[in-house]
Amino acid sequence: MSDPRPVRTAAELRGALASARQEARTIGLVPTMGFLHPGHLSLLAAARAQADVVVMSLFVNPAQFGDAEDLAAYPRDEGRDLALAAEAGVDLVFAPTSDEIYPAGFATHVEVEGLTDVLCGDPERRGAAHFRGVTTVVAKLLNLADPDLVFFGQKDAQQAIVIRRMVRDLGFQAEVVVLPTVREADGLAMSSRNSYLEPPERERAVALSQALEAAESKVAAGLPAAIEAARTVLAGAGIEPEYLEARYADDLLPAQSFNGRPVLVAVAARVGRARLIDNVVVGAAGDKHH
Ligand code: AMP
Repeated sequence: MSDPRPVRTAAELRGALASARQEARTIGLVPTMGFLHPGHLSLLAAARAQADVVVMSLFVNPAQFGDAEDLAAYPRDEGRDLALAAEAGVDLVFAPTSDEIYPAGFATHVEVEGLTDVLCGDPERRGAAHFRGVTTVVAKLLNLADPDLVFFGQKDAQQAIVIRRMVRDLGFQAEVVVLPTVREADGLAMSSRNSYLEPPERERAVALSQALEAAESKVAAGLPAAIEAARTVLAGAGIEPEYLEARYADDLLPAQSFNGRPVLVAVAARVGRARLIDNVVVGAAGDKHH
């Protein structure tokens, strides 16, 4: 069924999935904005292993871009993405136009309250409108593909938490699967936006993951000491973070200590033209999950 040609319309997508549904084959959906890297490929591999039919969506979603980042500048290479998707065993690529997702007069949005106005959603940062853009497009993709499983990366930890809540609150049938962050050899979290980094910036960018490692190594010394250790690493690389925060991984409320509940330590920083994010979850026993 592998076919490097994408389908562009909702009707084609539904048609292509009709027989799978009739035969009760399970459908796995991997939403992406393309410019695929090994992080995306890990999601595709998991989908290939866990679902009968693997659908990848490829859509640079205008609704989740703010003024701070140029939508037109976002890296794109559809030909390469289609080849990589075929290699990864993707059965169907859904690459809609913007009009297909947002027809004229589009007026309906999905908003997850509370979880979306902190960290990246803080009004001073990307704002809740970013997550409204994400949840609205993911809700639409879930409606169109109606998958049994939908795959996301821990790299975008807040996004995964918000989507889990949306899926639960609105009763989508899909099970949300979140996979570990895939990193470069030196620890930098893989991201399509890493392509914005000039060589000296690429060297400094590793400080984000090193800062999180420093925080992890200080867990026993307590949360303030762990955050301080991370801040010191960032400062050493001349990076002033947009945020560096510890929040409970389920409700994103501020964590004051490592007290048994999993704590998300998340960082965002601008390095050159790129706005980079990374995180680590410090678990109950002080053990870590990237
Ligand atoms: P994007 O194309 O950046 O919107 O990402 C599509 C999906 O890939 C999202 O679920 C991301 O969380 C996930 N993803 C992006 N980078 C990584 C990474 N380094 N490791 C694991 N998953 C990732």
